[in-house]
Amino acid sequence: MTSTHDETSTCHSGTSLAPGDEASLRAGLTAIGDDLLGISHSIHAHPEIRFQEHHAFELLTRTLREEGFAVQTDIGGLDTSFRAEAVYGDGGPTLAFVCEYDALEGIGHGCGHNIIAAAGLGGALLVKRLIEQLLERGEHGAAGRIVVIGTPGEEGGGGKAYMVEAGCFDDLDAAIMIHPAGENLSGMSTLGRVALTFEFTGTPAHAAVNPERGVNALDAAVLTLNAVGLLRQQLPSDVRVHAVIEDGGDVPNIIPSRSFIRAFVRAPRTDVLLNDVVPRVINCARGAALATGTEVDLQLPTPPYAALRPNPVLQDLVESAFARLGRTTVPPLQEAFPGSTDMGNVSQIVPVIHPNVELQTGLNMHSQQATDLAGGPRGDEAVLDGALLLAMTATQLLRSPALLDDVRSAFVPGVRTPATVDSVEDLRRIFAQQESAGN
Ligand SMILES: [Zn+2]
Ligand SMILES: [Zn+2]
Repeated sequence: MTSTHDETSTCHSGTSLAPGDEASLRAGLTAIGDDLLGISHSIHAHPEIRFQEHHAFELLTRTLREEGFAVQTDIGGLDTSFRAEAVYGDGGPTLAFVCEYDALEGIGHGCGHNIIAAAGLGGALLVKRLIEQLLERGEHGAAGRIVVIGTPGEEGGGGKAYMVEAGCFDDLDAAIMIHPAGENLSGMSTLGRVALTFEFTGTPAHAAVNPERGVNALDAAVLTLNAVGLLRQQLPSDVRVHAVIEDGGDVPNIIPSRSFIRAFVRAPRTDVLLNDVVPRVINCARGAALATGTEVDLQLPTPPYAALRPNPVLQDLVESAFARLGRTTVPPLQEAFPGSTDMGNVSQIVPVIHPNVELQTGLNMHSQQATDLAGGPRGDEAVLDGALLLAMTATQLLRSPALLDDVRSAFVPGVRTPATVDSVEDLRRIFAQQESAGN
């Protein structure tokens, strides 16, 4: 799916990708394409779950060092994270290509993060080659900083949240990545997400002989889920609350003294999530504890994921790049996609774009079918087209300061979501402080 295309961008500053630049990028892809596919296949064949991505980390950082990038590791305390940089001239934009490379438990690369890694690396290498060619020819306007950021643990670990906290994204003019999916889509917003756990503690007793002496922790868990079920009637339709009971007791003849709920609460707006929905879900658990006489302990086990905010100017660039690739896109979603990504946390502090690149129409991600496609010919097409799409987008930003200004003016700063918080109250306080500070 890399046919040539005559369509020119109708972007905000009237900038289109110069035909010479596009030809150089395409020639670059011909030169490095097989290497990128080798990296994609290798990561696919060695699936590693969150924060254990040592094979992918070694492969990507070794390649970047060989290509002349300065590589920094262990960012935000994560030993499979990295930030690689190649600097050309003075000034110019700092553009980051974001890689993910973690797999899912049980089904390997069912989210296709091997494709994200290879396409992100490829986009950076293509732009680097182009800049070096321009400099060799003595052309101006090629100053800039090419950054590749390796972000582990996207699937449930919130790796980017720790890296945001470490300041890894602060100096960027834009952070761009692609994600494989069931359609081509230039940009979408997602839901913010808070993960909660509720541990109820009661008193064990023989369930038949002395039931009156027991305090039933399972009853508290069941009441919580029933209360959440009723609460859903009064929640906005774009809010999601879903939970499992991970521990509900051991045997029927002992009243359970412990139960454990793991819940995700999601909403498109962080203020609605923190100030309205999450407190009401917590009240369901508190009410259940009161009704049953149990104690409830609330924890936030993983970093909150902020809602993803695509930059509209970057979205237009990606839309035109899709056209050049000969890929038909679906219309932008009217509502937030009802999932979440830790790229949302990045999108609150710098301009980002997170387009979907189709593997197969209508594909459900996180499935065995997605795993199979991510390692096959469809996955290879997504790697090559993804690398070119990212390189085309970055090249336009590199070549046009006016376009970069448009990206900056379209950016609305959000909340710097913390990676670790002790309580929902702390999270709300941090959010409220930043709101009042005008962030
Ligand atoms: Zn996923
Ligand atoms: Zn994913």
